[in-house]
Amino acid sequence: MGASIPTVKLLINGQFVESTTTQWRDVVNPATQEVLARVPFATPAEIDAAVASAKEAFKTWKKTPIGTRARIFLKLQQLIRENMGELAALLTAEQGKTLPDAEGDVFRGLEVVEHAASIGNLQLGELANNVAGGVDTYTILQPLGVCAGITPFNFPAMIPLWMFPMAIATGNTFVLKPSEQDPMVTMRLVELALEAGIPAGVLNVIHGGEDAVNAICDHKDIKAVSFVGSTKVGTHVYNRATLAGKRAQCMMGAKNHAIVMPDSNKEQTLNAIAGAAFGAAGQRCMALPVVVLVGESQQWIPELVAKAKTLKVSAGTEKGTDVGPVISCAALSRIEGLIERGIADGATLELDGRKPNVPGFEKGNFVGPTIFSNVKPGMAIYDQEIFGPVLSLVAAKDLNEAIAFINDNPNGNGTAIFTQSGAAARTFQEEIDVGQVGINVPIPVPVPLFSFTGSRASKLGDLGPYGKQVVMFYTQTKTVTARWFDDSTTSHGVNTTISL
Ligand code: NAD
Repeated sequence: MGASIPTVKLLINGQFVESTTTQWRDVVNPATQEVLARVPFATPAEIDAAVASAKEAFKTWKKTPIGTRARIFLKLQQLIRENMGELAALLTAEQGKTLPDAEGDVFRGLEVVEHAASIGNLQLGELANNVAGGVDTYTILQPLGVCAGITPFNFPAMIPLWMFPMAIATGNTFVLKPSEQDPMVTMRLVELALEAGIPAGVLNVIHGGEDAVNAICDHKDIKAVSFVGSTKVGTHVYNRATLAGKRAQCMMGAKNHAIVMPDSNKEQTLNAIAGAAFGAAGQRCMALPVVVLVGESQQWIPELVAKAKTLKVSAGTEKGTDVGPVISCAALSRIEGLIERGIADGATLELDGRKPNVPGFEKGNFVGPTIFSNVKPGMAIYDQEIFGPVLSLVAAKDLNEAIAFINDNPNGNGTAIFTQSGAAARTFQEEIDVGQVGINVPIPVPVPLFSFTGSRASKLGDLGPYGKQVVMFYTQTKTVTARWFDDSTTSHGVNTTISL
């Protein structure tokens, strides 16, 4: 190993430690191919040590007062704000997205930290007085124990922050396994979490890929697993973790569609679509890679192409960049391969973003905005999640046909309609079978007052990450039915019926 390249540490029992593994992977700047760090694939013994430390810490953490737990997250939100510039720069270096978008990534996670700081309002039980004579019933929402999180490469700040703050604020301890492609900003956030006061063992981090994930799914001392990533891996995690008796929630892949009605505000709509299809180089699970043009809006293709052509493709650090590199050389060749297949399958290539000229960053993994029209189910560009800046255009004669088309797609992460008609918007909201719906909002990711609510093939498990739903996920409801006797209570003798 080159001495000058830093190594990413494991976090076990409050200590950042060097892994003893022999298996390492480079963390690479996708705009330059510079190796930024090396990340270890933790050994089974290291994974066991992380879980053991979380198990031990749970004994005291679960009894720590709500206010004490919550105040750590008040401090963490302050530290994240103070370090925003550094966090965004780290994120852009390893992930590629533009600096303003990297700040957005951190900010959307920060909102969850703020929510964790008010956890007392969310973790309240219920009480029913006098459910029978002198009997009350009440619920207690108790933490589960050791919980684990497995995160993807595309939001290396926001998605870890969906997980550990809510799990820990509700009284659990946590083992996080970040994406091995870009773990550095996640580790910086973890350092800040310790600085904010998270005690030793309450938050642990292991690194790795398939083996580490399988070890989490199988580990007898882990009670719940939150996963965000592709449908293939998420389905595997859900099956394996639930088979081992764990709670699991898996937020997975997507193929989000927007409907453009001819009465929509054309300029606003085309801007929103270009931003949502090509922003973050199309590597958002809530990106808009398919647009269904209804009726006369099919005439707007040249204007959409013209807008896409104005977007600047360059490194995320360059001022004015709209579209940064994709995460890896492998991702680039997969996306380029899918564009080739789109042409071979008979879709019309309206704009070809392959091999853009990016002065100063000739080695970067760049693909520019690409637009196909006449796209149909059965074509690889429609059937697969491309996860790159490639937009597919589909035509429909009316709203009902467009809704039926979207509902036929197996994915249910996000969707949007662009219209000035309240009636059309309401029909869409009622009839569309997708978990997160935007009305003139292209990327309707809910704020943490709500929860992320993907559905169908985009989600396994019934409760979402962050917000109220995740409090249910990270707690066990205990229902207590209680009667207290005083000296005046009359004894009715032995009662062998089921009544209270
Ligand atoms: P991925 O599934 O390749 O990786 C996710 C995690 O699983 C990583 O931590 C990785 O180390 C691990 N992993 C990878 N291969 C594995 C295997 N064979 N067995 C066990 N674990 C494995 O996903 P990615 O490429 O990092 O992220 C992009 C995907 O995530 C896209 O499909 C995107 O739609 C999805 N995503 C979904 C949401 C959502 O909320 N629904 C949010 C962000 C990303």
